[in-house]
Amino acid sequence: MINSTAELEVIYRDGAYVCSACGHEFTLRNSCLRHFYVHTGETTCPICARKLSHKSHLKRHMKNVHNMPM
Ligand SMILES: [Zn+2]
Ligand SMILES: [Zn+2]
Repeated sequence: MINSTAELEVIYRDGAYVCSACGHEFTLRNSCLRHFYVHTGETTCPICARKLSHKSHLKRHMKNVHNMPM
């Protein structure tokens, strides 16, 4: 598990975007950036695109803000 986001970067290699933390490859740079949430625990609300500091907060956010319990 990575504690610092400073170690996370997108590496472009052989036509693919690679996560510097786990080596996972993506065809789109944005997909790779979004994948970083896996390492940082951060997530984004699929409805209002608000950034949440942890995945567990999303459940509460969905219920309180969008009235949509997951
Ligand atoms: Zn990764
Ligand atoms: Zn939201």
